[in-house]
Amino acid sequence: MSAVKIGDELPVNEKKLDDGTNDESCSPMRQYSSVQTLINNIPYITMTVLGTAIFAVSFGGSAWGPATAAAYLAYGAGGALWIMVFVCPYCRYWNSSSCPCGYGLIAAKFREKSSVECFDEKFRKHIPVIVPLWFLPVLAGLPSIIRVFSWPLLVLLVLFAVDAFIILPLVSTKHGCKECPQKNSCPWIAIKSKIAS
Ligand code: SF4
Repeated sequence: MSAVKIGDELPVNEKKLDDGTNDESCSPMRQYSSVQTLINNIPYITMTVLGTAIFAVSFGGSAWGPATAAAYLAYGAGGALWIMVFVCPYCRYWNSSSCPCGYGLIAAKFREKSSVECFDEKFRKHIPVIVPLWFLPVLAGLPSIIRVFSWPLLVLLVLFAVDAFIILPLVSTKHGCKECPQKNSCPWIAIKSKIAS
């Protein structure tokens, strides 16, 4: 088999299903380099960092500031881990560099592959776990800025909204998800399209 260069589209997907046949449904597959994977993660990382800062500023001056900021940061990291544990094992990109964000490769280190046919069901069941990440910083920041106006908090809220509700959905739907052969059956596309509209 000839070597596959990063960024190439493979003419044939040679992944095997449980019954030993080729998985034709995910052909062709794009391979993502480490740099591309890192770039694809930047909007989510940015959202988590900005959300953490919003909590710190909103409750600044009290012990709630660092406590809620640390909790949100842990939630952001835990949310990514949750997807790796409970969704990625059911994805055809588990343990594959065709996963746009690299979660599939990390997931393979601690979860065995499971049935791809359960992907939609697992996705719908577990994605609500991370959806509050998009809204909690807004719910914390808005009352605070209404109570006491603060330019730093306003800037953080605007940056958060632009990243979480415009950049992140756009990058996913126009880039990673656009190239995904699973997009027609993926409930995440519908969620992100609604967030973006
Ligand atoms: S494409 Fe999504 S569900 Fe599939 S392995 Fe990557 S992060 Fe997990």
